[in-house]
Amino acid sequence: MNVRLDNVRKVFDRFSALHDVSLDISAGELIALLGPSGSGKTTLLRLIAGLERPTSGRILFGEEDASARSVQERNIGFVFQHYALFRHMTILENVSFGLKVRPRAIRPAAGEIRRRAMELLDLVQLTGLESRFPKQLSGGQRQRVALARALAIEPRVLLLDEPFGALDAQVRRELRKWLREVHERTGHTTIFVTHDQEEALELADRLCVMRQGRIEQVGTPDEVYERPASPFVFGFIGESNQLSVTVCNGSVLLGDQTLGIEAPELSGPGLLYFRPHDIDVVEEEATALGGAVVISRRMGGTRRLGLELIQTRQRVEVDLPLGHPATERSVIGFRPRRWTLFPGG
Ligand code: ADP
Ligand code: MG
Repeated sequence: MNVRLDNVRKVFDRFSALHDVSLDISAGELIALLGPSGSGKTTLLRLIAGLERPTSGRILFGEEDASARSVQERNIGFVFQHYALFRHMTILENVSFGLKVRPRAIRPAAGEIRRRAMELLDLVQLTGLESRFPKQLSGGQRQRVALARALAIEPRVLLLDEPFGALDAQVRRELRKWLREVHERTGHTTIFVTHDQEEALELADRLCVMRQGRIEQVGTPDEVYERPASPFVFGFIGESNQLSVTVCNGSVLLGDQTLGIEAPELSGPGLLYFRPHDIDVVEEEATALGGAVVISRRMGGTRRLGLELIQTRQRVEVDLPLGHPATERSVIGFRPRRWTLFPGG
């Protein structure tokens, strides 16, 4: 089922939580809504689910205006960060619940409900635990039950609101891989909310980056990482350095120091962004950034150097391969190899 948001606005009292949000989500897609706390991610999910009504704008399921549909009729699977399972029900009963409470006319027979629930427990790799109660499971196992329960009703759309937010880092990483596999097997249109950019980059077909109730950028993980549309996105996705520069006759200057990079299309103040690994070490320090090494630490397979720029005393971080000869030096000249320059100070 494809989902379309058409100029959706949501105002609570007088506070605008969403400003004219438009987004097309294709059938079978896994899209991540990513943004800082308070950017409107949960509000957007609740509007899609029908738990809130838009102040203006439309939400379409396929060709149909969803506002005509109740929460039940929308047939949506929802998993929250703290979606408590029913404590007094076994795992099997929890997963079967959504089918058991259906009106008689559309309720499958008891044997069929059981068969489907067992199949889903197999999908979320919890076979054998069906007679346990929620408190007898780990946090990660409980969220897998919550997902099986959401999938049991064969939802038209699956909404996941920071489902792994309360779990520790190792479990989160495992569940992330596992969710991607489940998605590949079931193919539900899925909207996944997270404030964790690493999780979004790894999981999603597309990212929708939100800030203060607006969409900043929508694109594949590669597009958003390689070509951030705004300083906010550059700073939010992946690691980055930011320098206030001036463009003069197409040449980029930090103070009165030329950096050896050209921006012929701009003039005046700008913000130069580059990632720590997108730099080249250079010898001719007259046309480069120079920095004194103040921190040196290993990060997985690379060495991360914290530099204090000689020109401005600003701090930047650069990554070099382990064993690179420059990692022995106390002062390093470098030049951004890939960078983005945004106009303005
Ligand atoms: P996120 O999920 O991205 O952290 P939310 O969608 O929960 O953000 O909230 C977006 C903004 O809307 C926040 O400033 C929040 O305080 C506000 N908000 C959310 N729900 C309500 C509500 N029911 N009443 C008033 N303000 C709300
Ligand atoms: Mg939220």
